[in-house]
This record gives sequence, structure tokens and C-alpha cells, in this order.
Amino acid sequence: MKKDIDYVFVRTVWSITEAFHSATTTADGLVACLSYLCDALPCEQGAIWLRDVTGGFLYVIGEEGSSELTGLCLKEREGAAGQVIEKEEMLYLEPGAERTPLSLSEREAGLPEGALLWVPLHTPYGCFGCIQLGTAERPFSPEEQLLCSRCAALIALDLEEKGIDALPGGFRNRIMSLRHISKDYSNGGKIVRVLNSVSLEIFKNEFLVILGESGSGKSTLLNIIGCMIRPTEGTILVDGKDFSHPSEDEMTEYRRSSIGFVFQAYNLMPTLTALENIRFITETSDNPMKEEEALAMVGLSDRADHFPSALSGGEQQRVAIARAIAKSPRMILADEPTAALDADTGREVLAILQKAVKERGTTLIMVTHNAEIARMANRVIHVRNGRIADVHMNPIPLQASELSW
Ligand code: ADP
Ligand code: MG
Repeated sequence: MKKDIDYVFVRTVWSITEAFHSATTTADGLVACLSYLCDALPCEQGAIWLRDVTGGFLYVIGEEGSSELTGLCLKEREGAAGQVIEKEEMLYLEPGAERTPLSLSEREAGLPEGALLWVPLHTPYGCFGCIQLGTAERPFSPEEQLLCSRCAALIALDLEEKGIDALPGGFRNRIMSLRHISKDYSNGGKIVRVLNSVSLEIFKNEFLVILGESGSGKSTLLNIIGCMIRPTEGTILVDGKDFSHPSEDEMTEYRRSSIGFVFQAYNLMPTLTALENIRFITETSDNPMKEEEALAMVGLSDRADHFPSALSGGEQQRVAIARAIAKSPRMILADEPTAALDADTGREVLAILQKAVKERGTTLIMVTHNAEIARMANRVIHVRNGRIADVHMNPIPLQASELSW
């Protein structure tokens, strides 16, 4: 008897919704969805791949059938799963087709002999991963492929809504979500849109670079993330809670408790010593480091009593980094921190910043117009004319000492 594809589709949609509703963790919900999908089609094998944005890799969270994908880790863009997640497009290989898109480790995982299908888990806010399905011998019909891609879209929506936070890897710790953020300025009576519908997720422990030409809107975006200014339109979530319309007091409190700033012009207080500049900030912090410890971290213990005027540019920026780190913020926002420094000093400062955030488990968001610096980041957001033109991952971020400009 020919199975009714509409019935299978509706039945699977219903099961997916139910699975997410009743699962204790999002990961359990995902695995249950995979199981329903494999039963419904039916197919012999299935797996769910997720993307870890902070580490730039892909991993399998759950599996059906006799393949051995669980535990496998691919670099971004690697293999069939990497290709599907990168392009956000379905990939279908008929039984007997060349399996060239597969990486060696995918081939060796014992995938079934029949058809293989990968459908991306994506929403307008990004691609979380993909679902992979395989049969022992038969092909997937076009209707089945469509069914799978629609079910994947629903699963991605559920992931988005119910909290990717429950998953292992980088998605577990989402700090902030910006959704369709726009910013208008009025210039001589004329309204200019400097940010246009920017959507972005920010994760714990990641090093994110915002790259773009001068005037593209980078600092405006950073200042919105840091709650220095409000967007004209759009939604902001902090820890999943709406923070789109904070009061002045809430903005101040958010900056105090969560953000460390590093600016191109250092912005140290000229009348305070290096140590006092740090203390000035740590005095009002909830969980500060010792000022001396912060200075040691940037290699300036012997400059504690120097005033900014007695320090070189590079040293002043290191004090500014110590000051930002010392309050133990969740995020450090750095706006062109090396633009005023020569290349050697710039690399030194970047190395210190990179090391400090890594040791402290802090998220670092850095604005730069220098594409070379972007190679240090886990993830690079290219801003062009107030929009995110491109996002890319660095599977293996470079050390500051490896950069040249
Ligand atoms: P970037 O940091 O990429 O150089 P900005 O975010 O500083 O870019 O600025 C983007 C655009 O917005 C620029 O054209 C700039 O002139 C304009 N702009 C920035 N801040 C203001 C402001 N306070 N008032 C009016 N225009 C502004
Ligand atoms: Mg700027």
C-alpha cells in the first residue's frame, strides 16, 4: 500500500512538537525527533549534527541505526555535514552515487549502502546543524526529501524557541541575542539608517570579531551590544530574557555588571596611576580580581605607580585591558584596540588580550577594519553598509604572534 505522505508529514510534525514539549532537555527532544523521523519515513540510519560556534567544529549529538558517528567531530565546512551546514542547503546522494562529499571519518563511520540525505537545521537567525538520514537500499522520493527538510525547519524553530542552551558545546551558553536590530541617526534633519536589520547571537567564551570598513556601522553595533546606546528597532535578549527597552538605570547596571570596555584611545584617567585606574573600576564590581593580579596578567607589575603620561601607548592599552579584565565581566568589548599602535606593539597587546580572556573564560568582541586581526577570532562578522554581509568561522584561530600587517 502506498503510504500517504501527508499523513506521515502531519504525524511527524505532531510528534516533533510533542517531543520538545515533553523532553526534559533540548538534547533529549532532538534525539526523540530523530527517532520519530526515522520511524516515519522509514529509514535505517539517522544522526543529528550540531555546530559549536565557539570552537568552530561540528559534532554528533544523537544517532539511530548501526553507523558509528557518535563522538565524531568535524571542522567547520568539513565533509558532507560541514558542506550542508555551511551552505544551508540540502544534500542528497542516491543509492550508488559517488560519495565524494563525505570526509574520510564520515566514510569510516559505517553509513548504510542506500541513499543518504542531509537537511540543514536553520532559521533566519542562523544554521545550528543538520539532520542526516540513510537507507539500506532504496532512494528517498522527492516528497520524502521535502518532508525531511520541512521537519528540520520545524526542529530548528523549536531549538531556537526552547533554548539551545540545554545542549552541550558552545550553544549551551548563549549570552545575548540581537534580532533585526536597526539604528537610525538624524544628520542635519535627514534620517540615516546606519544599522539595518542585524541579527546576531553571542556565546560564552567566544572570540568574535566585527570586521568592516570605516563607517560601515561596527562601532554602532558594538555600542548596542554594550548598552551604550539603544537600537531604533529590533529585539535584544539577554540570557533569553527581553532587554529591548531598558531604562537608563538598567543600561548602567548592565554595563557595570557585565561589560569591560577597551577603546582605541585607551581612555585612562590621567590623574590616577596604573593601579588606581584599575581600582577605580574594581571598586564598583561584584567579583573583581585583585588590581595587582590584573596588572601582572598584562605584564606591568613594575609600572603600578606610573601615571598614564609616563607609559607608552602599548603600556597604556595593557593597563586598559587589565582594567577591563579585572572586573571579571562576561564580555569584553574592544573597539579598534590596536589602531593607534605600531604593528609589533599591536600584536603584543592582542596576544595579552587573547590570553587574558582565555584564562578568564570571558567573551571577547573586537571591532576592527584589519582583516588580518580577524584571523585570531573564532567567528568573524563582516559588516557592510550597516548589514551583516557575511559570517565565517576560523576552525583554527591564529595566535597574535602569527599575524602580520
Ligand atoms: P564604524 O565603526 O564602522 O567606522 P560607526 O558605527 O562609527 O562606523 O558609524 C556608522 C555611520 O553612522 C557613519 O556614517 C557615522 O558617521 C554614523 N554615525 C555614527 N554615530 C553617529 C551619531 N551619533 N550621529 C550621527 N551619525 C552617526
Ligand atoms: Mg568605529
